Amino acid sequence: MASFRSSAFSLFNQRQPARMAEEDSVVVIGLGRFGSALALELMESGTEVLGIDGDEEIVQAHNRLLTHVVRADSTKEETLRQLSVPEFSSVVVAIGGDIQANILTASLLLKLGIPNIWAKAVSEPHGEILRQLGVNHVIYPEKDMGKRVAHLVRGVMQDYIDIGEDFALVKTAPPREILGLPLSQTKVRTVHGVTVTAYHRQGQGWSYTTMETVIEEGDIILVAGSTERVESFSRLR
Ligand code: ATP
Repeated sequence: MASFRSSAFSLFNQRQPARMAEEDSVVVIGLGRFGSALALELMESGTEVLGIDGDEEIVQAHNRLLTHVVRADSTKEETLRQLSVPEFSSVVVAIGGDIQANILTASLLLKLGIPNIWAKAVSEPHGEILRQLGVNHVIYPEKDMGKRVAHLVRGVMQDYIDIGEDFALVKTAPPREILGLPLSQTKVRTVHGVTVTAYHRQGQGWSYTTMETVIEEGDIILVAGSTERVESFSRLR
């Protein structure tokens, strides 16, 4: 990492970081698989992204895909200042393999007073250090994805999102017992302790449910509730 140029970075876009910072935009540091997917998804949803990576090839690969992409070493305070990073309110540290660079970058961002810092942790001790430093959002992409896939593998769910504090959102096929009746009559909430929040119907897309909604065979439902309750509900056939 010491070989990264800290001042002579490459600029691949007309928009300057300082101008971007005035808007609702995000800095993503480290454009590996996780950082890149995150940055592209942010762009897709209309958020401007300043991507920073120390690897020239990676920077080239993101040319024109992000609002602005720069080759630079994020462990250098001067570099972060030159890139106007202190002007941004949200920064993601997506460096994983180099824990030292990850921690150094996060501590510099804290020093620069960035209000919202998301930092990727590769292990519990690593996450603990980031939390102790004061990082407000510590994320564990591999661990979270592993947990999510475990729920999918075990059940018949099509998707599973752990909201935290024992609450989850599940996309699944509806059990037979709720088909053909208004939801108010199915007693899903009292009997199973879950709420059917939305449903997908062929040709109609997704809609919110009401008490009058009648779920039909072939629909897909979105169910919210405690992790245990949504899991057992999704196993009903
Ligand atoms: P992933 O699993 O998301 O692919 P990873 O966890 O293996 O990534 P790394 O490959 O170590 O993480 O880092 C992700 C990116 O961060 C790489 O493209 C790397 O060039 C970049 N990077 C690492 N250290 C720095 C640094 N000090 N400054 C800028 N970019 C860096």
